[in-house]
Amino acid sequence: LPKRLQGSTPSVWNEYIALAMQYKPLNLGQGFPDDAAPDYVTNALADIAKDPNPLLHQYTRGNGHVRLVQALAKLYSGLIGRELNPLNDILITAGAYEALYSTIMGHVDNGDEVIIIEPFFDCYEPMVKMANGVPRFIPLKLREKEGPISSADWVLDEDELAKLFNEKTKMIILNTPHNPTGKVFHRKELEVIADLCRKWNVLCVSDEVYEWLVFDGVEHVRINTLPGMWERTITIGSAGKTFSVTGWKTGWAYGPHELIRNLQMVHQNSVYTCPTPLQEGVARSFELELERLDKPECYFHSLPRELQPKRDFMAKFLNEAGLRPTIPEGGYFMLADWTPLASKLNLDSETDKYKDYKFTKWMTKNMGLQGIPPSAFYSEPNKHLGEDFVRYCFIKKQENLNKAAELLKSWK
Ligand code: PMP
Ligand code: GLN
Repeated sequence: LPKRLQGSTPSVWNEYIALAMQYKPLNLGQGFPDDAAPDYVTNALADIAKDPNPLLHQYTRGNGHVRLVQALAKLYSGLIGRELNPLNDILITAGAYEALYSTIMGHVDNGDEVIIIEPFFDCYEPMVKMANGVPRFIPLKLREKEGPISSADWVLDEDELAKLFNEKTKMIILNTPHNPTGKVFHRKELEVIADLCRKWNVLCVSDEVYEWLVFDGVEHVRINTLPGMWERTITIGSAGKTFSVTGWKTGWAYGPHELIRNLQMVHQNSVYTCPTPLQEGVARSFELELERLDKPECYFHSLPRELQPKRDFMAKFLNEAGLRPTIPEGGYFMLADWTPLASKLNLDSETDKYKDYKFTKWMTKNMGLQGIPPSAFYSEPNKHLGEDFVRYCFIKKQENLNKAAELLKSWK
């Protein structure tokens, strides 16, 4: 193994997808919708397959299919109040995953420090290490309180954050709405981060794949709209999350050309170009939504509206089963403290190091219900902070959520 890969282990996804294939549990683990994607999105792809234009099945422009970058430029120019250049300021990638990879490989040099907020989407850490960067972690802390917990109760300690910034800091990775807590960073919290980025001349990578999934009237604020932040922010999105087609693995990064240029270089030297029919399908879907962006039937508004009752249903059945959920303001995951059930469980049959791995594996095998162990989203020294929790995904058919509720209810 080359040095940069030494110490790498299979990700939680590889491990838990294999587990699900073996035990066939009700799967509330990996985040994807189990219901049909919107008709007009899948029909667009069907139309493309039959389109008389043969070029729709050939290579397209490496940095992004023109119709798609044009649609994205139109969308985000309106959202952030700044004219994007479709050819220079946007890169289309193999999912948000590759956007993260190209961003990190394109900007992090040997020894550069990258601030990562814990818990974090698990690929951030190994990607920084692949780039020979040094991850510096800061955990969100759950405020002690009585009664229901909200994702807004998971907070950054401002002093601790300020202390992490120094001359070696190259980048901070932000994720809002956040996976796995569902935290939507409020404007005040983003201002703290933005102040530090400006003070230390640091890049902000804003992973906003769940940008449309916000609940309770909470606003998704794009950090690239704060003063002085456009110049230093790369924002990442995902068609998989936006249109409920995670299998399409089409994502993007946008920002000023001076920053996107580096990503284009990494992309050119690795993936080079993404599948044309998928990009064309995403472009057509965006064009349709752009026509009705302000209307309630726009998918970007109807999806969170339909998802919120599912969130509330899950919170209720988890509570009734004795777990303590964090009610997310955004995204499609829910963290729940499972330790109130500890006395009902004997996890000795499981050999994993961390309790949440034992709990989730035991549940998969014995209860037929799969969740994700959140310690996977922490650095080694902080994994204990995730051990009391399990992450469940609620963008699932109501019948499957009902089944999960029944499973937990029948558990004595
Ligand atoms: N970032 C976050 C926070 C995610 O949850 C995911 C998972 N989809 C990704 C990035 C990767 O997205 P994609 O499937 O588009 O590669
Ligand atoms: N973002 C999804 C999740 O967190 C999928 C992750 C993945 O497939 N790598 O579950």
